[in-house]
Amino acid sequence: MDTRLLDLLVCPICKGALQFDREAQELVCPRDKLAYPVRDGIPLMLVDLARDMTAPAPEATAAAQTSNADAPV
Ligand SMILES: [Zn+2]
Repeated sequence: MDTRLLDLLVCPICKGALQFDREAQELVCPRDKLAYPVRDGIPLMLVDLARDMTAPAPEATAAAQTSNADAPV
């Protein structure tokens, strides 16, 4: 994703700056604890698609436990 684009993107809820998680391919709003997905380099700034970071899925927890040794680059 073009990081210059990141300067133009704000959270649709709080209008705050977003942080790009390159590994997860998500745009994170630290205020709302929401992560917006990026598909093929295109940010999907839709609240309906945003992941609630305060409620991690069970599979995400399991992946975190095993990803320490061999993190994808
Ligand atoms: Zn926000």
